[in-house]
Amino acid sequence: MELYSGHINKLIEELAALPGIGSKSAQRLAFHLINMPRDKVERLARSILEAKENVCYCKECFTLTDKDVCPVCANDKRNHRLIMVVENVRDLAAYEKTGRYEGVYHVLHGAISPMLGIGPGDIRLKELVERLKDDVEEVIIATNSSLEGETTAMYISKMIKPTGIRVTRIASGVPVGGDLEYIDEVTLLRALEGRVEL
Ligand code: ZN
Repeated sequence: MELYSGHINKLIEELAALPGIGSKSAQRLAFHLINMPRDKVERLARSILEAKENVCYCKECFTLTDKDVCPVCANDKRNHRLIMVVENVRDLAAYEKTGRYEGVYHVLHGAISPMLGIGPGDIRLKELVERLKDDVEEVIIATNSSLEGETTAMYISKMIKPTGIRVTRIASGVPVGGDLEYIDEVTLLRALEGRVEL
């Protein structure tokens, strides 16, 4: 016998398929949603759909944005010759929150992981190479200090070196295996300022 109605089961199933949500959380969320007033549920459903329909990749740095080009790339006051390479949009947001980085970004949307079968062709590396044809002075590699992040950093460094463009890596003040988004701003700034030549 099914424990819950078919509709609840379906909702729990959909929620449980989201990252970081186990079956217990999915059940809790499902019951919470059902108990919410109808207008709030509609607002939530609408914002999910609207985000899905209107958010796209910035055509320069590949972060998520509502326009063709994100606010950072569209800003003339930013140093467009300085590119910081990050794994994901959350890492970009972490650096942006410090308010002290003046360059632009490049979002890879992942990291190389032979174990998970993610190769260089599966992340936005081709697009990075394309950007290097413009006048670039330095590429700061700010991938995570996990095995995947280090593998990716090494790969990018080898790829860029022959072009003569300066390649640096953020300092290892960032804890090993640490996700950039969880690190406080002071540590992030120290990592950026203490970046080393590759
Ligand atoms: Zn952008």
